[in-house]
Amino acid sequence: MIPSVARHLICPLHERLLRRPTFRFARQLEESQWYAPDELRAVQRDKLRDLLRHAGSNTSFYRRRFDQAGVNVDRLEPKEVLKRLPLLDKPTIRAAGEELLWRSAPGGLFPHNTGGSTGEPLVFYFGRRRQAFDQAARIRTHRWYGVDIGDRELYLWGSPIELGSGGRLKMARDALFNHRLLNAFDMSPDRMDAYIRTLHRFQPACLFGYPSSLALLAEHARARGRQLSTAGLRAVFVTGEVCHPHQRKTIASAFGVDVADGYGSREAGFIAHQCPQGNMHLTAENIFVEIIDGQGSVLPPGHTGEIVVTHLDAYAMPFIRYRTGDVGRLRPGRCSCGRGLPMMDVVQGRTTDFLYLPDGTVMHALSIIYPLREMTGIRQFRVTQNEDFSVLVDVVADNRIERLTREAVAQRVRPVLGGQVDLQVSLVDGISPSHSGKHRYVVSRVQRKTDRSPEEVGPGG
Ligand SMILES: [Zn+2]
Repeated sequence: MIPSVARHLICPLHERLLRRPTFRFARQLEESQWYAPDELRAVQRDKLRDLLRHAGSNTSFYRRRFDQAGVNVDRLEPKEVLKRLPLLDKPTIRAAGEELLWRSAPGGLFPHNTGGSTGEPLVFYFGRRRQAFDQAARIRTHRWYGVDIGDRELYLWGSPIELGSGGRLKMARDALFNHRLLNAFDMSPDRMDAYIRTLHRFQPACLFGYPSSLALLAEHARARGRQLSTAGLRAVFVTGEVCHPHQRKTIASAFGVDVADGYGSREAGFIAHQCPQGNMHLTAENIFVEIIDGQGSVLPPGHTGEIVVTHLDAYAMPFIRYRTGDVGRLRPGRCSCGRGLPMMDVVQGRTTDFLYLPDGTVMHALSIIYPLREMTGIRQFRVTQNEDFSVLVDVVADNRIERLTREAVAQRVRPVLGGQVDLQVSLVDGISPSHSGKHRYVVSRVQRKTDRSPEEVGPGG
């Protein structure tokens, strides 16, 4: 597809059919990024007030929450209202169920599964407004690197939607939009050779993927003596996990372009993205970020704590003071790129391990996480691979819904692993966090032949 046709015809038509105002929002965001910090704070304040009013009027969960906290949304400054509200975490969302939903959201509600950063599966709902704003935010950051709507994008990615039963439809749509998908869950040496050939044939304007998978592909190409740089490539966008310095270096030198880090998640939204100056800018028009300490108090800029987000456009299922489990800080000052968007650092977020098969296949952790988190009856899980390649899955059952059996879990996981490794499933009462204080829900103890030297391994790597 010619990029300009995709840009001016196919993509706008698609969004109009879905009745999503993505392009109008993208034009707004294009303009507001240059507002002065004061003006952006005013935008946030107005949107926050609107959201709080909406949540209090249209969801029973927040009506009760505001009552219990004794806040009057019309009388208090919106930021003050937030400070007085309790935080929202996954168990609370799960317990609240439908009380969190705005049933009459225009265009309907769209369910999603997520594991977030903690290995606790969760179902939540999107509305059209939120989808459009998240998409518009993404368009804006791509333009920072000269990548526009309709340009060729190559994804090294894995998702149950893209790779599952709806795959054929998705592939047809991808072709129209100039997107192409490589399966990040299948990184055997042969597949990676094929990926390199696709890269050179497709000539994308940008690459998009998990830093771990892109770094793996880069290492593989180097070992094979193959080039990854191609004419027309403008940037590599990484997201989904923390991008460690050694990964950034490997990816940037292999592809010969800037590596731009995006921070966000399915449930929390498109929170922040790096600009070409290397600073992480908040999507301030869509997301309000608070940094909190261990007692739940809000910390000033410069101080490190847990990242808590309020999605200003999540009307169908309001996320107000949602705990991400990630650690970061807001940064005072302004970026030399001239944008008024505030800056932040993400200090610690999701770190994923690979799983290894005896034949040399390397699998992204998400390939085993997705089938587990889509199973009903699982509250929490952890996957451990031992040095002899055998895999242990610990599962905490949520038996309120249906009785979970070890056999059922094994049946889900076995097709992912194939027949080469031993698999054991245990039903346990609880899973304690690792010593880093954060759940690493896939851990592999298999020694890779090409392990990095210790000085190359970044923090938390
Ligand atoms: Zn900047």
